[in-house]
Amino acid sequence: MSPRNGGKPIVIIGGGLAGGNAAATLRNEGFRGRVVLIGREPGIPFGRPPLSKTYLRSEEDLDGWYVRPADWYAKHDVERLVESSVVAVDPAAHNVVLDSGLQIEYQKVLIATGGRNRRLEVPGAELPGIHQLRTVAECDAIKREAVAGRHAIVVGMGFIGCEVAASLTQLGVRVTAAFPESVPLERVLGEEVGAVIGAFHRANGVELLPESRINAFEGTERLEAAVTANGDRVPCDFAVVGIGIEPDVPTFASTVAQENGVLVDELCRASAADVYAAGDVANHLHPVFGRVRVEHFNNGEKMGRAAARSMLGFTSPYDYIHSFWSDQYDHKLEYVGHTTNWDEFVIRGSLKDGRLIGFYLLEGLMQAAVGLDRGGDPELDTDSEMAACARLVGMRARPPGGQLADERVELWSLAQ
Ligand SMILES: Cc1cc2nc3c(=O)[nH]c(=O)nc-3n(C[C@H](O)[C@H](O)[C@H](O)COP(=O)(O)OP(=O)(O)OC[C@H]3O[C@@H](n4cnc5c(N)ncnc54)[C@H](O)[C@@H]3O)c2cc1C
Repeated sequence: MSPRNGGKPIVIIGGGLAGGNAAATLRNEGFRGRVVLIGREPGIPFGRPPLSKTYLRSEEDLDGWYVRPADWYAKHDVERLVESSVVAVDPAAHNVVLDSGLQIEYQKVLIATGGRNRRLEVPGAELPGIHQLRTVAECDAIKREAVAGRHAIVVGMGFIGCEVAASLTQLGVRVTAAFPESVPLERVLGEEVGAVIGAFHRANGVELLPESRINAFEGTERLEAAVTANGDRVPCDFAVVGIGIEPDVPTFASTVAQENGVLVDELCRASAADVYAAGDVANHLHPVFGRVRVEHFNNGEKMGRAAARSMLGFTSPYDYIHSFWSDQYDHKLEYVGHTTNWDEFVIRGSLKDGRLIGFYLLEGLMQAAVGLDRGGDPELDTDSEMAACARLVGMRARPPGGQLADERVELWSLAQ
């Protein structure tokens, strides 16, 4: 392939998972024009999952998580601008402005800027020793703190908090975890499964402080303690705050519709001509789930690819049945579908043993399923129980709860 130089490029803002996959797909699909990939971070596009798991525990480097090998971009004439931020996108003029002052005119632009960590706005939040986690640099800073025998407080027990609490514990750090819900991951998985996850953490020695909000951090030179809303003081050597992300939407010079991210249609198109969005930043219209913004690896990868194809004129809607995974200790969680609201939760397997598939239904409609140490990876094993669950969600099935719970009924038999 010999891409032509000159001409207005397709500009991709964000050199992360969605951006990297979009660049790779443009070339895979035979696009020969210029591709410019602009990223705030150093390094090449990669997947972040190991940052809270194997890389944090120094068990793995990031090579296996690169979207494409380091030399792929130059070989395929993808122009990469690293440690460069786009400070404005002008959809009317079809150009982007970088922090260096450089302006680039585009034919099409993809917003793949991901999310930024929500900050805990409390006194003492700027003290050294308080960390967040999204980038490799932030992970390396946590690694330097994670010396066996030290005491960490993890604030928030969503996926990042849970995984970091597990990894730090595995490194010999004593962990206290403070979170406002009654069990970890309650909002995503519900009370029953959250309680099982909480039990995993307790069994590994994590001290859980449910229904606790951190109101202040204290310390003279650096962090010495976190103070909860009810006045408890938790002495600690360092903290990791994982309280969610917000979509990192760039500044637009003219209107581009936004609501909890950049609003895009089923072809990843934003409201302004030639503007597309993908990944964590994109609030997309999904044929099964309706409007949804998803903050998971599989979506970043697949939506980046879908947006690239849309930019090239393909017209298939982005209809991936969302899925994600989480690893904590030696436990594996798989989830397919999407829901924040269900009125029936059916279990196949046992909460007591912590091996189960849980089904989330709303008015009988199967919206999502979680597999805990059971069910397989639906992406890797297309015959697995979790793959059957993805099929059930995709076909908008209304399987009877009794059959879902009954081990004698094959899930695939319900998904025909
Ligand atoms: C520690 C961690 C562990 C995770 N583990 C899992 C997991 O186990 N399973 C799972 O499903 N998901 C996991 N995720 C979520 C997953 O990594 C994200 O959903 C995915 O990275 C989203 O891809 P993205 O391309 O939208 O965003 P990103 O990969 O974050 O890429 C966005 C890029 O855009 C850059 N950027 C932002 N604004 C600008 C600008 N104005 N100019 C230039 N560049 C800009 C950012 O610096 C960033 O490099 C994890 C996330 C984290 C942080």
